[in-house]
Amino acid sequence: MGEQQGFSLSRRHLLKGVVGGAAGLVLGASAQRVSAAASQTASGSSAVLGSNAAQRLADDLFVLQLPGEANVVAYTSASGVVLVDGGSAKASDALMKMIGELPGGGRRADAGVQTLFNTHWHPEQTGLNETLGKAGKTIIAHENTRLWLSTDVTWSWNGQRFKRLPKVAQPNKTFYTTGQLNPDIRYGYIPDAAHTDGDMYVYFPKQNVLAVGDAISNQGWPVVDWQTGGWIGGIAGALLRLQTLANDQTRIVPGRGPIMGLAELKAQATMYATIYDRLTTMLNKGRGPSEAVAARPTKEFDDRMGNPDEFVRRAFESLWAYLSPDA
Ligand SMILES: [Zn+2]
Repeated sequence: MGEQQGFSLSRRHLLKGVVGGAAGLVLGASAQRVSAAASQTASGSSAVLGSNAAQRLADDLFVLQLPGEANVVAYTSASGVVLVDGGSAKASDALMKMIGELPGGGRRADAGVQTLFNTHWHPEQTGLNETLGKAGKTIIAHENTRLWLSTDVTWSWNGQRFKRLPKVAQPNKTFYTTGQLNPDIRYGYIPDAAHTDGDMYVYFPKQNVLAVGDAISNQGWPVVDWQTGGWIGGIAGALLRLQTLANDQTRIVPGRGPIMGLAELKAQATMYATIYDRLTTMLNKGRGPSEAVAARPTKEFDDRMGNPDEFVRRAFESLWAYLSPDA
């Protein structure tokens, strides 16, 4: 690939591709159904239940937040509990206890959970896999997530190592584009590779709740895991793509931090597109990660978002894989 061509993925190109291309094909039909469903379910107040940090989104849908843990979404029904992400392994006991105490969660939570979605491969999301896999439950993920969980991963930037999961703990039902667990639960791939190349969303049309894992962070700067495919252009792209799944009433559950609305999604999309532009400009001028950090490409956002250095370095490095002609 020639240099010009390699650098030709401009923001305009990126936005056009996301809005007019795959997103329209994959998500267009869903978006229309979203609009129809949302007009019927605009209510659904949130409330904190008792002493645990279970936030009620609807009678049968909750966000579970344990200290230091990523968000877990729990859907309760007569045929069992469905989870979007399972927390880290060390939080498993506390999480299962919380699930057992939910209305409809069942007295024995381990029997109650029937299905687990892994929004991506990170240990903060896959800590329940082994327990549920051994119990014969269904673990759904994008095929790329299964592949990462079946191999050892080492992060180049800090040497952190992640052991592959045993076979029984790996996702046992994978998909490539979209799927439907039942009429109340739809899911799909987020192909922009915002956080990893296996990112997925789960959508609950009746409750109008969209769970997106770490493809969106609402708690400071995100991790850009370029080792397993994530990149800053993917963050900007996913924020646009996911808008096509949401409307003004949609409650969006990010991997970390409080529940978001469409307006917050749009604000983040603008912010990350700005940062993407600045970083690609520096890349095109032959600058490196340290120069990118020193240039403070996030300066007007730092008061709100926190120290950006780690994020900017990873985000800049992530461009190499996608935009450098030699990559
Ligand atoms: Zn993650």
